[in-house]
Amino acid sequence: MKKLFVKTYGCQMNAYDSAKMADLLAPLGYATTDVPEGADMVILNTCHIREKAAEKVYSELGRLKALKADKAKSGGRMLLAVAGCVAQAEGAEIVARQPAVDLVVGPQSYHRLPEMIARTARQAGQRIETDFPALEKFDSLTPPSSSSVSAFLTVQEGCDKFCTFCVVPYTRGSEHSRTPEAILREARQLADKGAREIVLLGQNVNAYESDGWSLAKLCAGLAEIEGIVRIRYTTSHPRDMGDDLIAAHGGNAKLMPYLHLPVQSGSDTVLEAMNRQHTADDYRRLIARIRNQRPDIALTSDFIVGFPGESDADFEATLQLVRDIGYATAFSFKYSKRPGTPASTMRKQIAEDVKAGRLDVLQKLLLKQQYAFDDSQIGKRLPVLFEKIAREPGQIMGRSPFLQPVHVQADASLIGQVAEVRIEKRTANSLHGALLQDQSA
Ligand code: SAM
Ligand code: SF4
Repeated sequence: MKKLFVKTYGCQMNAYDSAKMADLLAPLGYATTDVPEGADMVILNTCHIREKAAEKVYSELGRLKALKADKAKSGGRMLLAVAGCVAQAEGAEIVARQPAVDLVVGPQSYHRLPEMIARTARQAGQRIETDFPALEKFDSLTPPSSSSVSAFLTVQEGCDKFCTFCVVPYTRGSEHSRTPEAILREARQLADKGAREIVLLGQNVNAYESDGWSLAKLCAGLAEIEGIVRIRYTTSHPRDMGDDLIAAHGGNAKLMPYLHLPVQSGSDTVLEAMNRQHTADDYRRLIARIRNQRPDIALTSDFIVGFPGESDADFEATLQLVRDIGYATAFSFKYSKRPGTPASTMRKQIAEDVKAGRLDVLQKLLLKQQYAFDDSQIGKRLPVLFEKIAREPGQIMGRSPFLQPVHVQADASLIGQVAEVRIEKRTANSLHGALLQDQSA
């Protein structure tokens, strides 16, 4: 067997792509390994969303170049590939800056990896594939070779929203949805391999539309698959929350009471400059409708502070929105320029120390809300889907319906099952509880 090391950066969609690349290379004799030392192939599956993403990839490539030289000294060959959004954005620049790289493959082209590897073995020179063949890659994928209890399934890719701060529409291309047949087939294969929960992924997953199927209809289809007990989806855009999807949160019992619905800012001025195409009150009304269907739903969001032109009053409006909604948890970031995006050339960029100060205030408020939400579960009984053995001896770890990690002293045979747990306490990032004797839900 040849050894394959894949390093994944960024979001769950990249984690899904990394697993697919490993499945794709298995028939070529590659088995995954946890360390790059001595590997026959190393893939960096990159993300372009964070600041200085490309620079971090180049410094990692510098380290891998040394490992590649070690491998050559011992008579072997290490193929070095850069995949994902940095590959898409930088293209040929990568091999120009780091000639040790053999392959550059964009997120829509990785199904061509086997062919690219074969060509690299036959002829000298580097291969670069960064086309956007509309979702052709999904047709060429092999069935999943294994599955975790909670499995990712990409249903939609790309984005047409063009928020002024974001690179995704440039690196992942325009919105495309896979067919419902292909998705349901993959979900059944995952269930056969042990998946009990399916997490539907997409840059704009609730913009899903194929053959007249919406995301809500897809969730209804998934709910009928034997073995699948929980369904989640991420990431959604407020403008694509259709009536049927809102209704599904009340009507589809397998759809978990958890929704990641990024708002970015609570100021209408900033929302407009970001091209989010809704106001803060539109978002408040939307949340009210969702809570009307599912009052206990856990809400999460992404926030950007220090967007160009953001005033103290704008930032205060964000804090007010957070107080009004009450989040279970949330991600927050300082605005940072992405080359090629409209916001990067806007005037009135905000000073770093102002951004840092605002982020600190926002994160303290969000953390307070997270603790309040977690504390509100203490004393309750929750159905927990157990996923794996925990670090503490005798403990297993699962997730509550609200995606909170829950640790329990219990037998590993419960992994893959839902069991009722009485929540006893909270630590920084997790809940702890005891299995209930009476398991009737
Ligand atoms: N599609 C999702 C949406 O509409 O909100 C989010 C996609 S993006 C991969 C994840 C998050 O990264 C965004 O919600 C945003 O908060 C953050 N982000 C994207 N570009 C950023 C930038 N230039 N500066 C800071 N944060 C950014
Ligand atoms: Fe980026 Fe999301 Fe906006 Fe699309 S909707 S441009 S992915 S932030």
